[in-house]
Amino acid sequence: MKGSRSKTTETVDWRWAIIRDRKAEFDGAFYFAVKTTGVFCRPSCKARTPRQENVAFYDSIADAERAGFRACLRCKPKNEYHAGPEAQLIKRAFVLIEDPENEFLTIDRLSKGLGVSAGHLQKTFRKVLGLTPKEVMNLKRLAVFRKNVAGSDVTTSLYDSGFGSSRALYEKAGETLGMTPATYKKGGKDMHIFYTVADSKLGKLMVAATGKGVCSVSFGETAEELERELRKEFWAATFERDDRNLKETVRTILTSLDGEKAILSLPLDLRASAFQMRVWSELRKIPYGETRSYSEIARSLGNSKAVRAVARACATNPVALVNPCHRVIAADGKLSGYRWGIDRKEQLLKQEKAAGEFSKGKAA
Ligand SMILES: [Zn+2]
Repeated sequence: MKGSRSKTTETVDWRWAIIRDRKAEFDGAFYFAVKTTGVFCRPSCKARTPRQENVAFYDSIADAERAGFRACLRCKPKNEYHAGPEAQLIKRAFVLIEDPENEFLTIDRLSKGLGVSAGHLQKTFRKVLGLTPKEVMNLKRLAVFRKNVAGSDVTTSLYDSGFGSSRALYEKAGETLGMTPATYKKGGKDMHIFYTVADSKLGKLMVAATGKGVCSVSFGETAEELERELRKEFWAATFERDDRNLKETVRTILTSLDGEKAILSLPLDLRASAFQMRVWSELRKIPYGETRSYSEIARSLGNSKAVRAVARACATNPVALVNPCHRVIAADGKLSGYRWGIDRKEQLLKQEKAAGEFSKGKAA
């Protein structure tokens, strides 16, 4: 997303709250310009907060200058932005992870290569990305696999992508490809893919899922471009745009990511992929069927007329869909409290189990 366009037409820009609170941790993540004074600032500028309608946001110094603004003398936005030590460590780690020479990288070798302890590396990854180094490496390998598999057979591409064994990928396949690697190779043959496109701070975000899980997360300039790419990647699948059932989930995730300063502290070139991985890992926690519809939940609650009530309950507790609380069972195996009552929780779990066994049988 280029910042050459003014973003003030959006009703509430996520960046507005940041400049109002002068959050220094977003310095370098974006710039804001004030139309009445003709200057642009870093988010933490100590000058008086401008009126919202006079503010325009830019992703880079170059974009702000191209739009005719000059640097503020007070916050000196052109002074170099230094990513903090954590962001720098992540950036260096990505360089090693992405190096094709390092395809069989382990956590130990990665941390040695970076000159830090494995524990420190784990902690930093989890703090900034919300992911472990292993998860990041697997997502990277998967990206390589997706690229490789068109030109060779599945097993060879698995090895070429750094998976020690084909089993390692097959075990992960359901959750990270949304289908088996063999089905992926066949362009998603016999798969029905639901997708949605949402606005995000990094441009359009597309999320696509099969009944088995998320099969694609991507960022791009336009919805058309993303749809074209999706159809190209899964050339043998059938598609259905499903805004209602996926978009709510995506929106919940994007909202939770809006308060996410850690990813924004990363250098610009890393943000999109860090974001993508985070969204992916969040979505992977929710099987597609989980969010299929409010009416299904209502029906499972034994009252198909309760749709609106369920929708309202979900709206007032959006994290319920992201962190399905009904799956939390007390340590003694008994069902613990649930906001819609224990009976309903039990029903949901039963239904989910049945649905899971059904889709497993169908996919195998
Ligand atoms: Zn300033």
